[in-house]
Amino acid sequence: MNIGIFGGTFDPIHLGHLALARAAREACDLSRILFVPACTPPHKTKPLASYYHRYAMVTLATAGEKAFVPSLLEAPALETSNKKLSPNYSIDTILKVKASLKKSDTLFFLIGIDAFEQISQWHRSEELFRECRFIVASRPGFSLADVAQSLPESLRPPENVTKPFAKQPARGDLALHGVTIHLLDNVHSAISATHVREAIAAKKPLKKFLSPQMEEYVKKMGLYGPRTGS
Ligand code: ATP
Repeated sequence: MNIGIFGGTFDPIHLGHLALARAAREACDLSRILFVPACTPPHKTKPLASYYHRYAMVTLATAGEKAFVPSLLEAPALETSNKKLSPNYSIDTILKVKASLKKSDTLFFLIGIDAFEQISQWHRSEELFRECRFIVASRPGFSLADVAQSLPESLRPPENVTKPFAKQPARGDLALHGVTIHLLDNVHSAISATHVREAIAAKKPLKKFLSPQMEEYVKKMGLYGPRTGS
């Protein structure tokens, strides 16, 4: 089976995330995609909504799709509720998932190209590439050379090798030194959670960003408004 892991802050999860997951499922024949909201994302400022609200929203957003599974893998440990929470590193989550898979299963890590550009700064980034394949949602303006140059230093091809790819759009598959990256060029969503939070705070229509169930939840719980119910 092909299994996907889709980690994020999901503050909140939005239709752009779902578009990426659907495109990845189709492109790589994924039987299951685990949506893993991070309790304490290492690369971001503190989320506005609590882990519990973000997890609840992931559950609502994925409810209609059999293959989309909300995951508690990065939930806060109960006994640490009064202590400072340590960051959730993707490599730890990937290793936990791998331990539960069969040898014949293949693990894929789903990510947008904006986040992928920073991947070399992630904790134990080389290991991430050894443990799973990547599915990266590309965007116009990014080249194959940008993708290769984003790799951790030890996996990055020399510049004279990548330079000829500077004019080639980031699409198709890239296989380098045991690294496999599938680039999706059919996810055409410019939505970001930042836009969604701004739209909610400004009381703008949310139909373009959120499913009706999500919109109802956000409003009911008073999330992202002037007095956010986090
Ligand atoms: P923020 O605006 O708060 O930075 P975000 O919308 O990027 O948030 P995250 O939860 O940080 O949401 O993103 C999780 C993953 O989803 C990241 O890999 C990110 O690149 C990807 N992603 C987010 N929005 C989109 C989108 N519209 N299309 C494709 N990928 C996306």
